[in-house]
Amino acid sequence: MKVLKFGGTSVGSAQRMKNVASIIGSSERKIVVLSAMSGTTNALVCIAGCFYRKAPDEANKMISEQEQKYAKEIEVLYRTDLYKERALQLVTEHFNHVWSFSGKPFTVFDEKVILVQGELISTGMMDLYLQEQGIASVLLPALNFMRITADGEPDPVYIREKLVALLDQHPDTSVFITQGFICRNAYGDIDNLQRGGSDYSASLIGAAVDAEEIQIWTDIDGMHNNDPRVVNHTSPVRQLNFEEAAKLAHFGAKILHPCCIRPAKESNIPVRLLNSFEPFAPGTLISNTAEKGRIKAVAAKDDITYIKIKSINQLPSHKFLSHVFDTFAFYKTAVDMVTTSDIGVSVTI
Ligand code: ASP
Ligand code: MG
Repeated sequence: MKVLKFGGTSVGSAQRMKNVASIIGSSERKIVVLSAMSGTTNALVCIAGCFYRKAPDEANKMISEQEQKYAKEIEVLYRTDLYKERALQLVTEHFNHVWSFSGKPFTVFDEKVILVQGELISTGMMDLYLQEQGIASVLLPALNFMRITADGEPDPVYIREKLVALLDQHPDTSVFITQGFICRNAYGDIDNLQRGGSDYSASLIGAAVDAEEIQIWTDIDGMHNNDPRVVNHTSPVRQLNFEEAAKLAHFGAKILHPCCIRPAKESNIPVRLLNSFEPFAPGTLISNTAEKGRIKAVAAKDDITYIKIKSINQLPSHKFLSHVFDTFAFYKTAVDMVTTSDIGVSVTI
């Protein structure tokens, strides 16, 4: 079993979706994890913002724009009127659901329900497209197996149990489609794995089914040796080990969600970063294989905050440090870099 994850730009238009379908194929057994079409989650965040600000007209305008955008893509994506109608109905239902929050007190729980609609739409549309092409895909609702604990961490035992049970119901199916990013929390409410979390979904799913490989399909040919937004003429790195990839993702390589490596590493499942615009390019393979003594890549991170903390009440330095890091732990804030001295500590977050 392989897991293939396609990000927002890879499913960003009807044409892109068709390309993804041809990459998916119908031979081997696989789970396809999709993000929302690019731009959709950002739009949903803005719509939720309108509901918080009690600006229903603005929300309504944005919803209509989204519906129009989807209607255009549907016209191009499907061949038959039957499937065009079914897809339009799907999109309308989801946006009606979004609109149903207008005119009521709006909470963070409602916002989370709104944020997951993009992935529900993209997977529903892909499932319909594959069916129209004669590929008998099965849609696996991520809300039925992807769960986080009360600490906000994924619950691998639950995920494995539920997902394996769902797969077992379809022994003859080779193509499964599911949503990235979306999950339930420990209380059963709809939640998510944070922005960009579809990669994380893919690796959690890969670990849950003991996949032979996790493929992360994006719009760039693998992990580059430098940040292409800053440096010209960068080139893809063909091979990384899990630790190098995790560090690069943590320190700013945008191609991968920083949490995505851990589940794959723990289960020793290779992760391949591939380009859906150039499906035959080799991309980057992330595995246990280490090549010592070489600098593989440089990553860059924006919006760093530098904090200099001094001990004013002359706490002994060991107590001072534990006090400082307890505070970051309490606010669930990861520290990137640290320097310490007798009188203070400097960190970047
Ligand atoms: N759609 C979500 C986002 O835009 C998740 C993802 O794309 O990975 O953050
Ligand atoms: Mg992403």
